Amino acid sequence: MFSLLVAAGLSLITVRPFVRAQGELLEEKVRAESANHAKSDFLANMSHEIRTPINAVLGMNEMILREDHRAQELAKDDSVDMIETLKNINVYANDVKSAGHNLLAIVNDILDFSKIEAGKMDITEAPYQLSSLLNDLNNMILFKAQDKKLDFNIDVDRTLPDDLYGDEVRVRQILTNILGNAVKYTEKGSVRLTLRGEEQGDGTILLKAKISDTGIGIRPEDKEKLFTKFQRLEMERNSTVEGTGLGLVITRRLLDMMGGTISVESEYGKGSVFTVTIPQRIVSNVSVGNFQERFEKNMKEGGTYKESFRAPNARILVVDDTRINLAVVANLLKSTLMRIDTALSGAEAVKKAEDTAYDLILMDQRMPEMDGTEALHKIRETSGGKSSKVPVICLTADAVIGAKERYLSEGFSDYLTKPIDSFALEKMLKKYLPSSKVELVNDEKKEEISEEKAADSYDALRAAGVNPSEGLKYTNNDEGFYLSMLNEYASSYEEKSGKINEYYSKEDWKEYGIYVHALKSTSKMIGAMELSELALRIEEAAKNSDAETIRGKHELMMKRYEAVTKAINLTASR
Ligand code: ADP
Repeated sequence: MFSLLVAAGLSLITVRPFVRAQGELLEEKVRAESANHAKSDFLANMSHEIRTPINAVLGMNEMILREDHRAQELAKDDSVDMIETLKNINVYANDVKSAGHNLLAIVNDILDFSKIEAGKMDITEAPYQLSSLLNDLNNMILFKAQDKKLDFNIDVDRTLPDDLYGDEVRVRQILTNILGNAVKYTEKGSVRLTLRGEEQGDGTILLKAKISDTGIGIRPEDKEKLFTKFQRLEMERNSTVEGTGLGLVITRRLLDMMGGTISVESEYGKGSVFTVTIPQRIVSNVSVGNFQERFEKNMKEGGTYKESFRAPNARILVVDDTRINLAVVANLLKSTLMRIDTALSGAEAVKKAEDTAYDLILMDQRMPEMDGTEALHKIRETSGGKSSKVPVICLTADAVIGAKERYLSEGFSDYLTKPIDSFALEKMLKKYLPSSKVELVNDEKKEEISEEKAADSYDALRAAGVNPSEGLKYTNNDEGFYLSMLNEYASSYEEKSGKINEYYSKEDWKEYGIYVHALKSTSKMIGAMELSELALRIEEAAKNSDAETIRGKHELMMKRYEAVTKAINLTASR
């Protein structure tokens, strides 16, 4: 932190022992005081910013542990409470994830800023596809916008060239930053990205991105402060909004380095428009084309993650000394149908690479005993090893200056930072896996696959009046979770239906109502809407001891309950 502050030019207080013109002294005093002020503000701001997500992570984790404890104590057959508990765990775990991401964003900002101040920020140019960059942007921003119920639109000129040459990571960072701000500082309305380009006739294009929002706007007198380090405007009003006040400074510096520009127009209280220009080289004239349609389709599908390729004939090795990390990677890549082997140590990786022909190896760097670099060298040196020449990608949490270069010079084919981003990982795999083994999944195919799957696995449920998509909503579209809910529902059928019948024949409407109430909620959660509504009506009748209504509907409810359970058992046995 100290070196960062020095780098930030905040230790300006040097006193020269000579008399100086009073004006000059005064000026220096003001400068020193304001630098000091900025430093204190920065430290206070930063500790607040960093403490907030850490507190969230610890707090939410505490909740997860408590829920887990509760789940273990719950009687095995208490399916309503169990489902409720699992749902709670899911919500808390998602909060942990988002706090973790916030923390990472803050640390990244600080790292980038210190790199810039130390003159060590480089622009690394390479060919990339504009459509893929826009897709990533969509995936990053859409959820944030949806969380705040904002409309998010991307309007891209379809004639823009798709194959460009430049620093994709930095271009994405610039746009994410401004779009992220637009979402952060807008409470109602919309955020829009309009992308156009002007060909310059020398093989370059000047990309022009306009990011407009209907947010809080910026006062004219505050405009210049926007690009000043550590400056955040209207701190009182924005006290609950996360930020470091570094984003726009970094953005402007990156643009300067790439020969781009940034400007802002804003009406206080109405919204802002940030305009960014970035020159990029054109590699080929293939255009982004119907990106727009693809994008809108994605939007309709709610931006849910879908694999972008499949490689059922590919075999890869993932090396990490932490089991949970292996599980994360395996899970991220599950839908690509690749065969995924794992190794828990460098030594195990070397052995496996010798015996098995892999298409690619993902290698964690920091492992006890033999680290990733050493394992890589051993793999490369094993003569006759079946995987001694395959691409090896380094996985590391190391994001410091020069890390990438260091790993590449050690002989790694490429480098991915942890926590692993699923899109970055897929992209990397598409790049390094043998292209003959990679089948790209286009939208049409994806739809076919998912419809096919839905038709054969959920038909029985639909016939019994269950709407799986209603149920999936409760699980955040997590199919595995949904299936476990169904399982839970069916396995308690014998006991629950027995109880309902028992209290029905005893005419104990109070107890009867309690069980019907539970049936109502669990049925709703799995998407058995008709059954749930029927149970609701009977529950109300039970509350009023309205025996006549109950008698009129009880049989039907029990029949439906049985039919739904049978359909679940049929689904599970496929
Ligand atoms: P921060 O991390 O605080 O968001 P930035 O450098 O990205 O830092 O932005 C600096 C300040 O500019 C913000 O704190 C906010 O007050 C203001 N700002 C940035 N973008 C917008 C916007 N789209 N609408 C209103 N205010 C904005």
